[in-house]
Amino acid sequence: MTNEQIWQSVLGEMEVSLSRVNFITWFKDTFISSFENNKVIICVPNGFVKKWLEEKYHKNILKTLESVSQQKINDIIYKIELRKSSGTNTVYGQEQKNYDLPAKTDSNQQTKYLAGEQNENNNKPNQAGQASYNRFGLNPKYTFENFIVGKNNELAHAACKAVVNNLGKAYNPLFIYGGVGLGKTHLLQAIGNEATKFTDKILYTTSEKFTNNYVQAVQTGKGKDFKNMYRNVDLLLIDDVQFMGGKDGTQEEFFHTFNELQQGDKQIVLSSDRPPKSIPAIEKRLISRFESGMVADIGKPDIETKLAILEKKIKEKNFPLEKDILVYIAENIQNNICVLEGALNRVVSNIQSRSLTPKEIIDAVGKFYNIPFKDLAGSSRKKELVWPRQIAIYIIREELNTSYPSIGNELGGRDHTTAMHAYNKIAQEIKEKGNEKIKQEVDSVKQLLGNRSFSSV
Ligand code: ADP
Ligand code: MG
Repeated sequence: MTNEQIWQSVLGEMEVSLSRVNFITWFKDTFISSFENNKVIICVPNGFVKKWLEEKYHKNILKTLESVSQQKINDIIYKIELRKSSGTNTVYGQEQKNYDLPAKTDSNQQTKYLAGEQNENNNKPNQAGQASYNRFGLNPKYTFENFIVGKNNELAHAACKAVVNNLGKAYNPLFIYGGVGLGKTHLLQAIGNEATKFTDKILYTTSEKFTNNYVQAVQTGKGKDFKNMYRNVDLLLIDDVQFMGGKDGTQEEFFHTFNELQQGDKQIVLSSDRPPKSIPAIEKRLISRFESGMVADIGKPDIETKLAILEKKIKEKNFPLEKDILVYIAENIQNNICVLEGALNRVVSNIQSRSLTPKEIIDAVGKFYNIPFKDLAGSSRKKELVWPRQIAIYIIREELNTSYPSIGNELGGRDHTTAMHAYNKIAQEIKEKGNEKIKQEVDSVKQLLGNRSFSSV
């Protein structure tokens, strides 16, 4: 068996156990350059793939290589090296050859547009116009730090990081796809936010805005400004490209924008809700462009990832929620982080706005003074109950503004004058005499009630 045959068999085995996207991403343009003395050198196209194979697929590759070659292998080295002749011998080399490069004349034409004077607007992002967006049209909260990495998104996340550290060089374009609410916009904007550290020629937009801008530019005779704006960037982020389907004029324009940026090693990052091939009514040549760099999918989050996201959001809100509740939310919200966040917000706001009841206050007072609820709320006139009852009356009146007759009822059917007397007595101590000791007792009880709202509505 030649090295090529061995590697082809290994690839055949690997392919079965991986998704197509993963397989192409990690094994395209790989080959064996040497197999001697039980040592194998596997060549890979770049450092990103090298690291990924070493960390994620090494065991699998080793096992498969041993079984295919029927030899014990002592060492595998992953080496960055491109195949010299354009690959005629692997399926995936073949596939890549289909990615036709744009004709030279095309690119010459495009450079003319760029030769024009610099457009003032060319760093302006889409007209998002929302206050919470920075000048690049990016939401500053969408950062890598705020992005939880799980099995479902680690590939996309790693690719985004690789891209931002090597604009225009690692993968161009990077195409991220996945269902609604799974973090595509977050990742695209995280790239944008990170890139602001070293360039301000960043443009984030959605394909809908791109389309609208284009149509408007054509109608108002500002095609040149449009071209300048989109072609004069170091980083172009286009969200939701699936909406370009069926819009022929826009696709044509985008095709040229794309080629020009790609040829100038300017980074393009695209997102879509489905893989390039599945976008309806989109030109073949655009599909092949979209696939010509790296395609990474975001899958459905597993329960651990969802929990980690919830825990992070809870921390940001500084609102402690029991793990059980988080698990419940994570288990019941399936595939959409947006919906997951919404559910969390609803739970938090429900808890926050539910007002306390007099019973809960009596219970807390009982805990603080170590007296059972039934004694405190009962009719016994024992001496040791008098003081805690007065404190309970004070807090109920103060915080819930409950009427004196109702307070009397809550506490063993006492007369409303008893409740009024108790309230006035404690209020005088705290508010007029500044009695710190009593104030502290009241505060401690309130602390026992924790984060609970004292609103009476
Ligand atoms: P998409 O663009 O794929 O529809 P978004 O990027 O708008 O989804 O994500 C929806 C919400 O979920 C956003 O608020 C985003 O911050 C959050 N989100 C998604 N994935 C993650 C993640 N892995 N870590 C933290 N937040 C996430
Ligand atoms: Mg989105």
